[in-house]
Amino acid sequence: MDLVIRNARVRGQQDPVDIAVAKDRISAVVPTWTGMAGREIDAAGSLVLPGLFNLHLHADKALLGAIMRPNVSGTLPEAIEITNEFKRAYDPEEVATRAATVLAEGVRNGTTFFRLFADVGTVGGLRAAEGLLLAREKFAGRCDVQVVAFPQEGIVRDPGTAELLDEAMRLGCDIVGGLPWYEYTDAEARHHIDICFEIAARHDRDIHMLVDDTDDANSRSLEYLALKTMREGFQGRVAASHCGAMAAYNDVYAAKIVDMVATAGVTISCNAHINLVCSARLDREPKRRGIVRVKELLARGANVVTSQDDVNDPYYPFGKPDPLECVSMIAHVAQLTLPHELEQAMDMVTVNAAKCARVADYGIAAGCRADLVVVGAPSVHEAIRLQPLRLHVIKNGREVARSIVTRELLPA
Ligand SMILES: [Zn+2]
Repeated sequence: MDLVIRNARVRGQQDPVDIAVAKDRISAVVPTWTGMAGREIDAAGSLVLPGLFNLHLHADKALLGAIMRPNVSGTLPEAIEITNEFKRAYDPEEVATRAATVLAEGVRNGTTFFRLFADVGTVGGLRAAEGLLLAREKFAGRCDVQVVAFPQEGIVRDPGTAELLDEAMRLGCDIVGGLPWYEYTDAEARHHIDICFEIAARHDRDIHMLVDDTDDANSRSLEYLALKTMREGFQGRVAASHCGAMAAYNDVYAAKIVDMVATAGVTISCNAHINLVCSARLDREPKRRGIVRVKELLARGANVVTSQDDVNDPYYPFGKPDPLECVSMIAHVAQLTLPHELEQAMDMVTVNAAKCARVADYGIAAGCRADLVVVGAPSVHEAIRLQPLRLHVIKNGREVARSIVTRELLPA
């Protein structure tokens, strides 16, 4: 055996277990592993989770907040405008360097799977995508990386972008992105979605769009996205981030959309951090939260994930990035506070995310891929409450990050 993690608390099991790993696979999860191993880690009763996911991260724009002027209005249109000034001069190497800084911190926080969004359009061309593909190369072996070709300036309103998206897929991008609600009219939003499905079908790739990221109850592109998903046979292959307009929909229309999303198997990514900062800027009081209807989606059986969208960029000046911080944030804004709801929140960066990314062999059981995180807390509840250091991060059976805690209360 190559690795044994002893005294691990695993979700769904009463007593601690030993997790035995051979090469890149978990070979046994048992009360006591009696064999020898090349390396032993004593989890000492800590929670061990399967590798964590971040399925929505603008790594190309990460850390631009340190370089660029601040977003004075705090709104999304101003964020797009000031980022464009910088994007015109993007250098793929420079993009990869910033992305790598964020990936490194994400891995230290237990993230073993990232979906990185690369702006693709006439402003920055394919340079952001080239940068993130380069970052993926640099991080091979430490984490899985998918790159999304994402039309941040729209497709119909930015002529030439459809062709660039197609080229980005040929370049090696994994996922077709989209931003339908940003088009000028409802008809053009639908055309935008049609174009994305054409490209996805042509390259046999999944789709992840940013949808209805506004407080406007008339922003209804999620309806067409769900319909198109069903009609095109893309069930289980489409994700929609944000969808904050759903909070503004009337309850009857919202119920119909929740049902369509569940039926179509569209994953909803609720990126609570950014929505709390960017949404409802035009509201006086009370200010809305701009958060998709998480509890209604969960009750209907829809797949919901949560992600860290931005790391210090003109859209959002904070961001660690840490999936446990995302879980804490979604637990706050969606009011997930009961024991079973904390489990639901944790699912959003683990099993639900794996389902969205169609990662098979995920979990802590014999035969699963050995992507494991030893969390410095004994339970899901304490992991969310404390967001402690991740003591050991294992990717494909190999330790890729380690944190050592030294905290002392000194004598008075
Ligand atoms: Zn985003």
